[in-house]
Amino acid sequence: MITTSIKSKLPNTGQTIFTVMSVLAKKHKAINLGQGFPDFDMNEDLISLVHKAMKDGHNQYVHMNGLIELRETIADKIFYLYQSKINPNKEICITPGGTYAIYTALTSLLKPGDEVIVFEPAYDSYIPNIKINGAIPVLIPLTYPEYKIDWNLVKDKINPQTRMIILNSPHNPTGTVIDKNDIEELRKIVFGTDILILSDEVYEHIIFDGIQHESILKYPDLFARSFIAFSFGKVYNCTGWKIGYCIAPPTLMKEFLKVHQYNCFSCNSPLQYALAQYLQNKNEYLQLGNSFQKKRDYFNVIMAQTKFKAIPSHGSYFQLYNYSEVSNESEIEFAKRLTRNAGVTSIPVSAFYKEGKDNKVLRFCFAKKESTLNEAVNRLINYFSLGKNNFIKNI
Ligand code: GLN
Repeated sequence: MITTSIKSKLPNTGQTIFTVMSVLAKKHKAINLGQGFPDFDMNEDLISLVHKAMKDGHNQYVHMNGLIELRETIADKIFYLYQSKINPNKEICITPGGTYAIYTALTSLLKPGDEVIVFEPAYDSYIPNIKINGAIPVLIPLTYPEYKIDWNLVKDKINPQTRMIILNSPHNPTGTVIDKNDIEELRKIVFGTDILILSDEVYEHIIFDGIQHESILKYPDLFARSFIAFSFGKVYNCTGWKIGYCIAPPTLMKEFLKVHQYNCFSCNSPLQYALAQYLQNKNEYLQLGNSFQKKRDYFNVIMAQTKFKAIPSHGSYFQLYNYSEVSNESEIEFAKRLTRNAGVTSIPVSAFYKEGKDNKVLRFCFAKKESTLNEAVNRLINYFSLGKNNFIKNI
């Protein structure tokens, strides 16, 4: 047998925490509040539109940038929401998911030695996506427990090698959102530089408490240097469809398309025909914030029976809880024990830090039916009431 020795391009990258925890959840028949995906049915009308598109023969390649009717509908939606005029021919590319849009944006511009500012905790694909391009992630911690950006720390890290800043709002895993002050600070920092922005806005509609989403699309001066990633999976409760899009000004989109055309080329056609029609229905995405806010509130009410301490979430479908009154274990050990022994899976937030910083915080996905959330919290209560942890609050 011939063996070839390989030198890994990502020697320190293990398996994504979402797969690790979902596999463990399945093995132990745990309720999976770890990986972020809804457990309720998606809209039947949208499914019927996909079926119809297939039956109507829309089963061959569409334009590599995406079906033009879908790109036009996206441009209309952006104008309606953010009063920004986007050219569907030059500034939009349909992608197989938001993560792909992020990877492609990074790959289209980063050169070895470029520095990219990443706020931690960070969605777990960012750092490997930077490193695979030979670029250097420059890590800045968000303040704990508010998870805000300390812009003075950002100023300190800017130098001629700084090529990009990655923003994510509403934020995965913390559920925090950037506000107008953050936008002003960002403006001051990038003004007069060549620094690009990659804005991950996949949870744009899942925002709570009357807060307005501060899309980069609202700010033409910032948009001129930005890639923005979006996801239909988050809007239509179909994360498995893996379809999203990237918006960028023509000069950046031109580079993005050079990578995209030889990687994905063009995305699933029938989904695009269906989405082009379904996306015209504004109510569907406008009500998302309210419906997920109800789920967040419901989950927080039932979790309040326990000693888990909620850290406010203003967007995304995640809620963080500090468990330091319950256990001293590391986040990963505790999350695994809860999966194995209590039958409830979460995600350790330490997985979103390169050095695994451990604040004793777990991320729970509340994009679930009330019955699922009830069952999960009941399992936690039952498990801990059997042990010595004195887990339930004394009423
Ligand atoms: N975005 C999802 C989450 O945060 C996971 C996606 C994935 O598993 N790659 O849970």
